[in-house]
Amino acid sequence: MRIRVGAATDVGRARERNEDSLLAAPPLYAVADGMGGHRGGNVASALALQVLSRVGDGSWDRLADQVKEANRAILERAQGDRSLSGMGTTLTAAFMEGDVIHLAHVGDSRAYLLRDGELHRLTEDHTLVHRMAMEGRITEAEEETHPQRSILIRALGVEEPVEVDEVPVHALAGDRILLCSDGLHSMVPEEDIRRTLEAASDAQEAADHLVELANRAGGLDNITVVVLEFEPGEGVDLADRAARDSVRDGGGDGGDGGARATEPDSGAPPSADAESAPAAPDVPPAPAGSDITQIGAVPIPPGRVRRDDTAVMRAPGGTTTATMSAPTTVPPTGTFQRNRKRRRRRLLAWIGGLVLLLVAAGVGFRLYLDTQWFVGVDGGKVAVFRGIPSEFIGAKLYGLVERTDLSAAAVQPLRSSWQDLQGGLDPVSSKAKADLIVTNMRARLTEVRQTGAEKSTSG
Ligand code: MG
Repeated sequence: MRIRVGAATDVGRARERNEDSLLAAPPLYAVADGMGGHRGGNVASALALQVLSRVGDGSWDRLADQVKEANRAILERAQGDRSLSGMGTTLTAAFMEGDVIHLAHVGDSRAYLLRDGELHRLTEDHTLVHRMAMEGRITEAEEETHPQRSILIRALGVEEPVEVDEVPVHALAGDRILLCSDGLHSMVPEEDIRRTLEAASDAQEAADHLVELANRAGGLDNITVVVLEFEPGEGVDLADRAARDSVRDGGGDGGDGGARATEPDSGAPPSADAESAPAAPDVPPAPAGSDITQIGAVPIPPGRVRRDDTAVMRAPGGTTTATMSAPTTVPPTGTFQRNRKRRRRRLLAWIGGLVLLLVAAGVGFRLYLDTQWFVGVDGGKVAVFRGIPSEFIGAKLYGLVERTDLSAAAVQPLRSSWQDLQGGLDPVSSKAKADLIVTNMRARLTEVRQTGAEKSTSG
């Protein structure tokens, strides 16, 4: 199979900087969407792809392991640098092995397959709202517009070990594969993605048009796409743009996204902030012996640092700004966000547990009600009920079983223990026992009536 590769990444129209990264290094292709305060998102997504790129040719079976390796690298890097604490990233990767596309996926970036004019989603979003949709708590339509749809339940850089989804797909000639960050799929309806992917004359045009669509729709987030186009033949055609925007390993550490060879076409003139171009002073060298080393070959592009002045949080919770010149005063937005996610996860676990408990209690209570019987009044007559003589939030906890011909008004005064008859007597544990109470009532009533008749005849 011959593969044409196109790719594009763009800051969008609302964010100050691009925290997405892409990898176009045959046979491996990937997108990563970083998050975390200040510059963490940048570092996380670039670092993830650099580590991933070391998976090596022909070793698709190590793909998931390498994603886990990337997870470890991000966690380690964040531990060693307070300003990076809490950073994380999504990662959706495709490794080509012959005609098979091996996908590895964590987070809410997506892989799509366009085949015979139909768009198929190949990955599942690891988001809270997607889980809610899976559980039937919200509809799929609600999932697409839910205000909390960017809350991730799985990402790299959060905890160890990370679970990695793996999907193998057999490519056919004519197929197009799209990897994209949520900056595309959250802004552009899938039908428009489908149409654009299908109509483009080649992979790079598709990538460019998709980014354009997302920007036209508002461009509220960074947008990154990688498009693979399959045709009969051999080899790989890597578009210049794809090669240019791809993260490069080159011994880089992913610092400040500097591993990307060139800025996307969205920035200020490159000369604008030339004085701030050198690597930020707070980027420490990687620990000795680590396979993650300082950026060497690839200089940090001018303009990058200034564009990082403000950090826009990815998750709901508002926009946070931070100043580059005073890293120690930077609110740990990444940590905050992460803690919030942890808290949410814990809260969800609690709620889940509580719901289970309530359901179990409800079922148990229901079973208990079925074993209870009591004597009460229905339509002025003594009656036997199943359940207990109570209500719960307006729902009766009992049901009528049998209404007798005994007048409640006649029976009630006969014994003090029957005084509560109107509201239902104390429950008993079988119908036979309830029947016995009714039998006693009947006997007592007969007795009283006979005594009365004797009295009246003798008197
Ligand atoms: Mg995004």
